[in-house]
Amino acid sequence: MKLLEMKFPYKGLGFLCLLCASVVNCFSLDREAFTFTSYDLNVRVEPEQHRLGVRGKLTLRNDTPTPQKIAVLQISSSLDWRSIKAADKPLQFLSQPYTSDIDHTGALSEAIVTLPQAIAPKGTIELEIAYEGVILLDATRLTRIGTPEETANNTDWDQIGPASSAVRGAGYVAWYPIATDVANLSEENSLPEVLERWKTRESATKMHLRIGVSRDDGEPAQPLVVNQASCQVLYEQMGRSSHSSADCTYQPLGSRIPVFAVANYGFIERPSIEVYNLATHAVAAESYATAAEKIVSLITEWFGKAHEKARTIDLPDPRAAPFESGSFLLTPLSDNDSAAPGLTAAHQLTHAAFVSFRPWIEEGLAHFAQALYVEREKGRPAAVEYLTAHAAELSEIEIPTAVPRSEDKVNRSLVNPPNEELYRSKAMCVWWMLRDMVGDAALKKAIAAYRPEQDKEPSYMPRLIAAQTQRDLEWFFDDWVYRDRGLPDFKVESAFSRKTMSGSFMLTITLDNLGTAGAEVPVIVKFTGGEIMRRLEVRAKNKAVIRVEVPAAPQEIVVNDGSVPESDTANNNFKIVEEAK
Ligand SMILES: [Zn+2]
Repeated sequence: MKLLEMKFPYKGLGFLCLLCASVVNCFSLDREAFTFTSYDLNVRVEPEQHRLGVRGKLTLRNDTPTPQKIAVLQISSSLDWRSIKAADKPLQFLSQPYTSDIDHTGALSEAIVTLPQAIAPKGTIELEIAYEGVILLDATRLTRIGTPEETANNTDWDQIGPASSAVRGAGYVAWYPIATDVANLSEENSLPEVLERWKTRESATKMHLRIGVSRDDGEPAQPLVVNQASCQVLYEQMGRSSHSSADCTYQPLGSRIPVFAVANYGFIERPSIEVYNLATHAVAAESYATAAEKIVSLITEWFGKAHEKARTIDLPDPRAAPFESGSFLLTPLSDNDSAAPGLTAAHQLTHAAFVSFRPWIEEGLAHFAQALYVEREKGRPAAVEYLTAHAAELSEIEIPTAVPRSEDKVNRSLVNPPNEELYRSKAMCVWWMLRDMVGDAALKKAIAAYRPEQDKEPSYMPRLIAAQTQRDLEWFFDDWVYRDRGLPDFKVESAFSRKTMSGSFMLTITLDNLGTAGAEVPVIVKFTGGEIMRRLEVRAKNKAVIRVEVPAAPQEIVVNDGSVPESDTANNNFKIVEEAK
C-alpha cells in the first residue's frame, strides 16, 4: 500500500523502482521497525545561505520480533542524503520523497537503506550519515489542506536565514533523522499519533549535538540558543571570521524536541530569566523581563524555587505562534504588545519551577498559574472570567453527552494519552476547582510534596492531594482526572424561603446536576442590599440540598460563578417569586 504513495521522479530509475518494489515486498517495509537509540551529530548552520549540513552517527535498534535487513531514515524534503555508511563502508540506499505532514514541507527525503546484514531482534547497528540542504520558510503541509497562507506561515515559522534562524525538531522540521509512518494533517489524529509513537520510541534515546554557526563578514559571532540549559556555548573570533558553537546532550531525548535559534539577539539577564530579543524589540524585552521578576514570589509560593533559569527567545514575525519546551519559550516580543507579558511569564516561570512528565499536571499547573496571576492582579472575578473563557472552548469538545461516545472519547481523560484541549483548558479548571475545594495551603503542600521520580502511577498526584484533606475526593478524580465524564449541568430545582423568628430568611435550595460529572459549585443568593455565597457538592446525575440564612428576603439564586466548567449555563439563574399569601 505505502509503496504506491512513493513517487519516483526520474525515469531512469524505473528499473530501480521495480527492484525496490520487490525488495520491499519481500521484507515488507516497516518504517518504524528501528528505534534510534543514540544520535551523535555535528550540525553546521550557514544563515547567509539558509543552509544546514550534518554529519554524524546514529545507532539503530531493531525493535521488531523479526530480523531486519532494511532501515528507513527520514529527513526534511529540503535536505538531501549525501552518504550512509556502516563500519566505514558505503551502504546502498535509495533516496525518495515520502509524503508526510510530520515535516513543514509536507514531505521527507527518505533513505531506504540496505544494511550489510540482517539485524536480529534487539540487535543494533551504527550508521555514519551525512546530509545537507536548506531550511526555508515553508508551510506546504498547511496550505495544501486549505490553511490561509498567512496563518500557515505564522504556525510553521521555522527557517534558517541571515536575519534570524529558529528551527524546531521532530513534528516541525526533520533536521535530524527520524523514521515514521505517514502522518496526514487531513485526518484528525494522524499527526499527533505518529508523533506520540515517535516520542515514545525515543523516550530513552541519547542525543549529542554540536551545532556550529560561522560568519566571515567581520561581524561578531551571533548568539546561539538551544533548548537545553546544560549546553556549552562558545563564541570565537579570528580575524574577520567568527564562530558560535553549542555542545549539547539530551538524555533522554524523550518528549523534549531539540530546538535551536541564532540571530543578532540583544540579551537581558535577570535573576529568574534571560531574554534574547531582536534589535527592534528591546523595549518589549525589558518589560517582559520586568513582568517576570514581579511574579517570581507568586510562582515560588505555589510551585517552589525555580530549578533553572527561564529563557525567552524573540521571533521576528509578530504573529508567530509561540512555542514552548519546558521553560524555554520562543515567542514574538513585539514592542506595541503590552497585552499580557505577566500572563505569559506566569506560565513560563511555572515550568522553570515545576516539572512533571504528565501533561495534565505540568501544563495544567502552568495554566492554573496564569489564572492565579490574573486573580492577584485583578481579583477573583477577573480570574473566573479568564477560566470561563477557557471553559467555553471546553464545552465545545465536551458536548456529546447525549450521543453514545466513540471508544476514543470514552478512553480520553487527563491521565490517558495526551489531548491538548484536555491537558490545557480542562486541567486548568480542575486545578482551580481543587484549590477551591481543599484550600490554598493544602494544595500548595500537595504540590510541594510532588516528586517526578516517584510519580509511577496516575493516582500519585491525586493521593498527594487527598493526603492534605479530610474530604473524600475520589469521586472528583473519577469524574475529571481518571475518566473524562464530560461536564456538570447545574439547575436550581426548587427554593423555599421561610421567615425566621429573628426576622431573617431561611432559604432551602435544591440543586440538580443534570450533567455527567460532579463538582462543588458556588451558589450565590442575592437579596436587597447584598449577596451571600455558599459552596455545594453535587454529584453527577444527582441532587443536593443546602440551607442558607439570608438577612433580607432572597430575590435570586445564581448557581456557579464560572469557576466550574459547565455544559449549559442558560439554566443557572433562579428568580424567587414571593408567594402570594
Ligand atoms: Zn506550558
